[in-house]
Amino acid sequence: MFANAMAAERAGEEERLERLAASLFHPTGVDGVYGRTGAYESVVEALTALITRHRPAGAEVFRFPPVMSRKHLERHGYLKSFPNLLGCVSCLCGSESEILGVVNRFEEGEPWTQSLEAADLVLAPAACYPVYPLVAARGPIPRGGQVFDVAAECFRREPSRDIDRFQTFRMREYVCIGSPEEIQAFRGAWIDRAQQLADDLGLPYRIDLASDPFFGRGGQILAISAIQQELKFELLIPVRSEERPTACMSFNYHREHFGHIWDLVTEDGTVAHTGCVAFGMDRLAVALFATHGTRTADWPAAVREILNL
Ligand code: 5GP
Ligand code: ZN
Repeated sequence: MFANAMAAERAGEEERLERLAASLFHPTGVDGVYGRTGAYESVVEALTALITRHRPAGAEVFRFPPVMSRKHLERHGYLKSFPNLLGCVSCLCGSESEILGVVNRFEEGEPWTQSLEAADLVLAPAACYPVYPLVAARGPIPRGGQVFDVAAECFRREPSRDIDRFQTFRMREYVCIGSPEEIQAFRGAWIDRAQQLADDLGLPYRIDLASDPFFGRGGQILAISAIQQELKFELLIPVRSEERPTACMSFNYHREHFGHIWDLVTEDGTVAHTGCVAFGMDRLAVALFATHGTRTADWPAAVREILNL
């Protein structure tokens, strides 16, 4: 009986979310890759403006493309941690006659993709990765630390029909580079500020300790260690249910990981520590629609006011 009730509740949940997805997105034939409606996009734009209003004083702005250097990502250690999520750009790289040969074979009904070669590009899996080598090349980080405002369209190979898991989604981040104390203070302040933001947006939430989905059996050990060191907190919103909430923002402390890899140092000569606060723009927009309804005109006045909608 209890199991039946649970199954019925799940089915109701799925139906509600499918209806919501149909009102916000256009199918493209691939799960987790969607066209977006004008109403949805205006909420993403309003959220973007709201987060910009909270930009830390002195933050330097970078906007990155959806692709990044494959070499840089390899050096970041991404393949060790999340090889299953990575998308690599591949192209037909031969001479004109070789490429023509592939196209002709395709026209004759033969497969063509085995002729692809990996390019020097991967799809960016997070917005902050390009910042570390770029900043390291400029020299030491000044005393007091530095903050950056970054954004990119990101890709993670997680095909799913869930409304809160896309293969391609917008990520905005504030990144801090400096001493361990500066990163901890930055992250702590943002955990508080993020809750204020969620309150202002009328979103229910809780903050929880989390770990990244590290790959494989070795990954489980990494995940336990990350939890023990409190490297990641998330702001979770009950988009589908209280029991399975969605991580819409994350607050990350990378310790000296990127500092070591890129020779990032502070002015006093020690390895720089880094941290970032990431806003999942698409998840936040979906959370707003799931909480307040599909018509923004019906949203609470205070929420519309803060978003200038
Ligand atoms: P993280 O690097 O902490 O895994 O991701 C940062 C933020 O990006 C998450 O808190 C979340 O809001 C967003 N994000 C991560 N994965 C997905 C996803 O599959 N779909 C969407 N829409 N957003 C995601
Ligand atoms: Zn980051």
